Amino acid sequence: MTENAKPVKVAVVRCDIVSEACPGVGCFKAFNERKSHFKAYGEEAQIIAFFTCGGCSGRRVYRLLKALKSHDLDVVHLSSCMLMQDSYPKCPNLDAIRKTIQDAGIKIVEGTHH
Ligand code: SF4
Repeated sequence: MTENAKPVKVAVVRCDIVSEACPGVGCFKAFNERKSHFKAYGEEAQIIAFFTCGGCSGRRVYRLLKALKSHDLDVVHLSSCMLMQDSYPKCPNLDAIRKTIQDAGIKIVEGTHH
């Protein structure tokens, strides 16, 4: 990080259904080790939020992004569990969730640990 540069602030949104069985270790491990979809970040990057969509239809995303904007959120990762299509039923609300994030003016990265 250059002097006075602001650290990148990252949040992860994940599937509420999957969160019943997953504590999120894979996402945090990938962030802490700067692997997979986090590999572009430097040491100074911070994960400032980790939350679920709130359940279908993903309505929590809008509310929490609004709150996180005041904490200088830069980028939201869609968790890998939200993007699964083969081993798990595809999220029916993904496009709406993406639009919510885009409309909030926050960058989206597709995926976390795989
Ligand atoms: S909206 Fe998508 S990500 Fe959220 S609980 Fe439903 S299937 Fe999971």
